[in-house]
Amino acid sequence: MPHSQQVDFLIVGAGFSGLIAAERLSAAGFRCKVLDRRPHIAGNAFDEYDESGVLIHRYGPHYFRTNSPRIVEYLSRFTEWHHVSYQIKSYTQGKYWSFPINLNTFEEWLGRASTEDEWVSWLDAHKVPIDSPANSEEVIVSQVGWELYRAFFEQYTIKQWQLHPKELDASVCGRIPIRHNRDDRYLTDEFQALPVAGYTAMLQKIIDHSPNSCVELGVDFLAEKDRWSYKHLIFTGPIDAYFDFCYGTLPYRSVRFENESFTAEQLLERENISGKPGHWQPAMQVNFPDLDVPYTRIVEIKHATGQQIDATTIVKEFPEEWTPEKEPFYPVPTSSSAELYERYKALAQQQENVSFIGRLGTYRYYNMDQVTGMALAEADRLIKRYSA
Ligand code: FAD
Ligand code: UDP
Repeated sequence: MPHSQQVDFLIVGAGFSGLIAAERLSAAGFRCKVLDRRPHIAGNAFDEYDESGVLIHRYGPHYFRTNSPRIVEYLSRFTEWHHVSYQIKSYTQGKYWSFPINLNTFEEWLGRASTEDEWVSWLDAHKVPIDSPANSEEVIVSQVGWELYRAFFEQYTIKQWQLHPKELDASVCGRIPIRHNRDDRYLTDEFQALPVAGYTAMLQKIIDHSPNSCVELGVDFLAEKDRWSYKHLIFTGPIDAYFDFCYGTLPYRSVRFENESFTAEQLLERENISGKPGHWQPAMQVNFPDLDVPYTRIVEIKHATGQQIDATTIVKEFPEEWTPEKEPFYPVPTSSSAELYERYKALAQQQENVSFIGRLGTYRYYNMDQVTGMALAEADRLIKRYSA
């Protein structure tokens, strides 16, 4: 499709939000063009085979989960699923701990066997009574008290966000469940699975299924705004950048990823640590809460993908200050960023022919299922509006 040709929808961003909106609108007969400044589709969910042949998630681990049958039904048109029970551990005080905190963690903490009754009584004696936790410190101490909060949450959060948990919205640490039983799954959602061939393959199928859409990569929309002709714009990039930072920059957090691969021979030496042939560490993800370790976590995604390959790859995540040349991976949920976002949102609401969706378009710490839901809802709304 030549650039000068008018499309119905110009969609900025070829991640989950942009591609799903394009597929729905295209299926309704609208012509769509999707742009992305990166050289690949799939946004932050991009996965690829590295030089060792291991399927890795380039921008950090992406564990798909949802409680929404509608979202599973929709995505299942484009992929088969590999069902996984995501499991992680925390490493501090020289050892691996069950995490998220559960009865097993309590037993490891005590150094002896215990019961659910004893654990609940311990929590009742230690947790801080707070009716409505107002920040990320309160949300954890109100469930487990100061000792476990300090061991597993306080320093990790400072390292990840360069902010104290007191300064962060309760929803940040509130994402992590605390359990009374021995359930040590990372997440509790009903549906937990990865697309069998990966996210990039699933999203490529979504494009292939959209005959009225085309994708152009390596293009920064904001640098060439006037080049395009369209009836409606769907913007999934950072909302503050769209408005040329007129109220100032919204805060973001970035991450540097450091990958290391190991051959089958090298892994033999690690077997007593990983407990699993062909693997480097004992779980898909190990968190390092202590501030003297510069990374927050090590991910060995092969545990989750179940890929049958002798080699493996681990990825260390080093949180970083965000600067404009880096990817804005995480919106930073604080009261001041929420206020600033509200000002941008008010501007966005005045734009008749522009929709802002996705993690960056709405400045929300949203997961893939949530942005899928948002894209489906916005596409429905636009189909009604433009079909009338
Ligand atoms: P993105 O994937 O960010 O896509 C937006 C696209 O817009 C980008 O590709 C960008 O290049 C493009 N763009 C921006 N500005 C412009 C412009 N001016 N011109 C052209 N293109 C532009 N979710 C989960 O469900 N489970 C997880 O385990 C999970 N783990 C995560 C771990 C990390 C480290 C991160 C950062 C996120 C994680 N997420 C996870 C969240 C998940 O990545 C997002 O929910 C999802 O990818 C958001 O999709 P999106 O399309 O809204 O945004
Ligand atoms: N967190 C923590 N210790 C951990 C894991 C998480 O303190 O071992 C806090 C931290 O602030 C983190 C937040 O909980 O940013 C959410 O964790 P999650 O694993 O959901 O982070 P994400 O995968 O989104 O980076």
